[in-house]
Amino acid sequence: MQKAIVLISGGLDSATALWSIKETHEIYGLSFKYGTTNKNEMRAARRLAKAADVKEHIVIEVGFLKELGELQSEGKLEKINLSDCYIPGRNTIFFGIAAYFAEIKGAELIVTGHNSEDNFPDSSREYFDAINKALSIGSGRGKRGAKVTTPFLEMDKTQILRIAHRLKVPLRMTWSCHKDGSSPCGICTGCIAMRRALRETGAETP
Ligand SMILES: [Zn+2]
Repeated sequence: MQKAIVLISGGLDSATALWSIKETHEIYGLSFKYGTTNKNEMRAARRLAKAADVKEHIVIEVGFLKELGELQSEGKLEKINLSDCYIPGRNTIFFGIAAYFAEIKGAELIVTGHNSEDNFPDSSREYFDAINKALSIGSGRGKRGAKVTTPFLEMDKTQILRIAHRLKVPLRMTWSCHKDGSSPCGICTGCIAMRRALRETGAETP
């Protein structure tokens, strides 16, 4: 069985990516913990990894990463015209770490749930093509090195939710809110996107 590293954030997209590949690959889940600020996401990621019966769930602490808004308010980064949720260098750091585990575990794929609603410069097709070229050149396994695979890059949340229903993803285990409250805040971009997808697919709130 081929092996895959799956980035699990705890949200709908990564859960659906995980379910789309868990029957055909030996899975190593990879999640990133931002200090104590994403407890709900981490709880969801752990539950999903367990439910998907992954071979191993690797959790990496990246508490040094801060969002644009926070960096700007601390005077550490000048004003740039991007969402407050943008984190400088985030995906390059994540895929670098994923490439490390892919190489030592012998995985062929690095799977991520990025989609058309991720409007960041490091979430574009051009970026993923470039990162794959860099990983291929930089891997000790050469052309056999792992490739980043983005099954949902051309899809929106509604299309992903339809796939999630078909694959019977346990949506109740997912967490799509960007805040860390006792229940979803209902007003962040994560909550709004999830609510729209639920409405458009005619599904009930998980
Ligand atoms: Zn929210």
